[in-house]
Amino acid sequence: MDPLDFNHREKPPQFVDVVNARIDTALTLENSTREPRAYLGGSRLGESCARKLQYEYLKVPRDPEREFNGKTLRIFAVGHVFEDLAVDWLTKAGYDLRTRNSSGDQFGFAVADGRVRGHIDGVIVAGPDDLAVPALWECKSANAKNWRDIVKRGVAVSKPVYAAQIALYQAYLGLTDHPAVFTAINKDTCELWHELVPFNGALAQACSDKAVRILQACDAGEWLPRVAADPDHFECTWCDWKQRCWS
Ligand code: SF4
Repeated sequence: MDPLDFNHREKPPQFVDVVNARIDTALTLENSTREPRAYLGGSRLGESCARKLQYEYLKVPRDPEREFNGKTLRIFAVGHVFEDLAVDWLTKAGYDLRTRNSSGDQFGFAVADGRVRGHIDGVIVAGPDDLAVPALWECKSANAKNWRDIVKRGVAVSKPVYAAQIALYQAYLGLTDHPAVFTAINKDTCELWHELVPFNGALAQACSDKAVRILQACDAGEWLPRVAADPDHFECTWCDWKQRCWS
């Protein structure tokens, strides 16, 4: 339903509804003009369901109620703002953090004829306290519950998708000699977490192998196995392709 179509509502729209709807419409319109990415994102290869990654790579439309809406797009945008803030904070704290090359582009990699790509948040090339450099820098923002879990269990256990991304990026950027620096920002309280993540070669290789499997299956027009045998599995519950996958 068009969020700006107020004629079909039971109650007259409040001011808040009108403004929010205008923002949501503007954001979704802007998003619809973006070129969808035509590659398998390295940041996604830690995802446990290979079939979901096929849906992403093949740009299969999400279930109608799971299309990106204004709220989702705002969450993405806020994440970028937090990342920019973390760059500023670390720089002020004495870390020489590079996030762009001389052309102003993010550092990244492209393999498999450009069908697998990734863009890193940055590289720390110098820092206090004998930090081993160069070190990949990866930054995420999270709500308080998720942030506390990262602090409690570490990124590798708490967020294996992030750990896989870090390992893969270290491998493809040649930043394997020193642990990566992982920063997590609590979006609710602005508390910070920083963690050193040693290179996990086996994880990087597993992600790379997974990428090959996914590309081969997509080329062959085959679907890889689902992550679960039951649509009530927790990973399917949150999946943007659940209806399509199980119908
Ligand atoms: S619904 Fe479940 S099995 Fe299907 S793609 Fe999503 S996560 Fe994978």
